[in-house]
Amino acid sequence: MQQLTLEEPGRITWQEVAEPELESDGQALVRPLAVATCDMDLMIARGESPFPAPIALGHEGVAEVVEIGRAVRSVAVGDRVVVPFQISCGTCERCRRGGTDACENVPPLSMYGFGAAGGGWGGLLSDLVRVPFADAMLVKVPEGLDPAAIASASDNIPDGWRMVAPFLAERPGADVLILGGGTRSIALYAVGIAVALGSGRVDYVDTDPHRLAVASDLGANALEADPERHRYGIVGDGSSTADGLRLALDATEPGGHCTHAGILFEGDVPINMLAAYTIGLHLHVGRVAARPVIPTLLAMTANGRLDPARITDRLVRWEEAGEAIVKDHTKLVFTR
Ligand SMILES: [Zn+2]
Ligand SMILES: [Zn+2]
Repeated sequence: MQQLTLEEPGRITWQEVAEPELESDGQALVRPLAVATCDMDLMIARGESPFPAPIALGHEGVAEVVEIGRAVRSVAVGDRVVVPFQISCGTCERCRRGGTDACENVPPLSMYGFGAAGGGWGGLLSDLVRVPFADAMLVKVPEGLDPAAIASASDNIPDGWRMVAPFLAERPGADVLILGGGTRSIALYAVGIAVALGSGRVDYVDTDPHRLAVASDLGANALEADPERHRYGIVGDGSSTADGLRLALDATEPGGHCTHAGILFEGDVPINMLAAYTIGLHLHVGRVAARPVIPTLLAMTANGRLDPARITDRLVRWEEAGEAIVKDHTKLVFTR
């Protein structure tokens, strides 16, 4: 089968590799149909990430089930499914608590699309992918939903969700500040989800004219400079810069929630712990646990409350993924 592979920095090729096979009764084989770029993929594909090549690329997408083990109950051959990027068993204590980013039954950081650093599970820009825990991982796509529109439900849309949704449930109608530019699409998904969930005012900060226009279209106040109003109940930092994180912390109101969703390769950032203590800051850092929120996001998309397709720059033919993935973009979806 064909698999898009970063062989080494600067060299991406469609490689002919052996097809995966079912290794136990609870597994499934799926054929990806629509695969989106994750906000990390530009860096991974350009060889600028900390993850060493070779890397089978792609970890967000919708696929068709082509084979299932005898014990699989929740999906059937022919079903269209979202494939979460993280490998999770669904039955260990962490998975049952919703911590599918840290399943106890697989090595830490087990995920598609990150090469050996992610456990060597392959990538979704492949003809076939093995899903080790089919019942726990796969989410059936509701009738009528376009796979391309929800290809990012594997990872980046849930990542936007966790920046705002749990806190809007706690504080309905709260004002929201989202800093974009680093986690390019995640920050925009956060804007769309905040508006859909009935937030107060949403301010979005970025320097890119296209993303500012998208944010405005989604219902945010799009700002090229730091906001004049300095305190928000909910702040999402998708800047991936130390300055952005500092701004996010300073902009969080007493008792508010600040989520840092962007990986900061810059390293240490001093935090004024007295200031954080004084206002009762809730700072959330860490990887998204994608699987638990996917059904909710698909339902919101199916009933029209959320339109993730508005964040997609363009659809790209499957065969052209290797050339397109290294060029500047916010969100591409490869289809066949
Ligand atoms: Zn990702
Ligand atoms: Zn588990």
